[in-house]
Amino acid sequence: MKVITLREGRERSLLRRHPWVFEASIAGGKADSGETVRVQAHDGRFLAWAAYSPSSMIRLRAWSFDETERIDAAFFARRIARALAVRETLKVDSDSVRLIHGEADGLPGLVVDRYGDTLCAQITSAAAERWKGVIAEALLKASGATRLYERSDASVRGLEGLSPRTGWIAGEMEAPAAGTRPPPEGVPAGLGRPGARPATCVTIREHSWQFEVDLASGHKTGFYLDQRDNRRIFAETVRLFGYRRVLNCFSYTGGFSVAALAAGATDVTSVDSSGPALAHAEAHVALNGFDPAHHRTLDADVNRTLREMIDRGERFDAIVLDPPKFAPSAAHAERAARAYKDINRLAFGLLRPGGALFTFSCSGGISGDLFHKIVAGAGLDAGIDARIHARLAAAPDHPMTVTFPEGEYLKGLVLVVA
Ligand code: SAH
Repeated sequence: MKVITLREGRERSLLRRHPWVFEASIAGGKADSGETVRVQAHDGRFLAWAAYSPSSMIRLRAWSFDETERIDAAFFARRIARALAVRETLKVDSDSVRLIHGEADGLPGLVVDRYGDTLCAQITSAAAERWKGVIAEALLKASGATRLYERSDASVRGLEGLSPRTGWIAGEMEAPAAGTRPPPEGVPAGLGRPGARPATCVTIREHSWQFEVDLASGHKTGFYLDQRDNRRIFAETVRLFGYRRVLNCFSYTGGFSVAALAAGATDVTSVDSSGPALAHAEAHVALNGFDPAHHRTLDADVNRTLREMIDRGERFDAIVLDPPKFAPSAAHAERAARAYKDINRLAFGLLRPGGALFTFSCSGGISGDLFHKIVAGAGLDAGIDARIHARLAAAPDHPMTVTFPEGEYLKGLVLVVA
């Protein structure tokens, strides 16, 4: 077993059970990519079993703080069983759940989502990469799923010296010959693509709605499961206040649009800069049996669209702002803060009195406090006053732990304009 020794004083983070050790904290020792090492303080005291990553700034990711624990196949089976047991208690109203949420489940660099009987995994650390085969076997056994797709194409893999990989690890869907397998009723063939629906497409249920998820081409592992509860809360709010005219910005495949239509909205606009995502959104309106005349898509930049709508004097009952990560880390916070403030100010300017803004940030680099301040500042600039109706977070199958504050990435505010 190789040993990595930390500089004096740099043991604090591991003693607080934070799983990362940065390059600058290491006094000596080396290992191969993903190899398990014993991490010790400058005086030889045991700190953790960890995986070594030779090219990453995050040089070590801790597997365990228990000296008696062995990092082997049984260890991964235990961690996976523990994560799945937590999900069992959550009573998620969907057949699709995040089973493994990286560091928060004690498995750094591993994300696994369940879509019906198919799993989709994303590996972003040398640590998890090294144990991929063992992890895959344990996941299939513990979950009872028959198929496992890998979506390890996130750019952060480059920082770990890993090349992208996508494809089936286990099982496979029957590949339909072009045009031979009809898509579900009401759904355009191939969701905007010519021919049959791809052999990587699964239909999932969330609340009383259905969505199509393409494991190969969807964002992340295919769908934003973290917004599941917030889509339900959005539907409840639209129904409660009798909202009709809804603007869903950064709509992706229209999750919040479906929620609005389900709650009685009759004029819903989905805005996104991805054509395929919008084709998917249209398909979702049909798949869920809503009137296509109640929904339209806009393939455009949100910032520009909001400005144009203000110029035209448009007004909405409810607006969703769910942008991509503007600040991947705290270093980007200042620029990101301006970008968040801009879109929130514009959105406030488009709401009628009594209307609601559902605004989100999924930036790890923007704290809940800072996000609140940014949105409050945007409201002041727009000349409105608003009541905080709710504070939102990621669905609980994306757990947060007290030892890993970076895991608290998604925050949302629901504001009702006076
Ligand atoms: N709310 C969605 C998830 C949003 S993900 C859901 O519930 O599923 C963010 C989306 O923003 C992506 O679909 C991406 O294509 C889109 N996007 C990124 N930058 C954009 C821009 N400048 N204008 C419009 N859409 C953008």
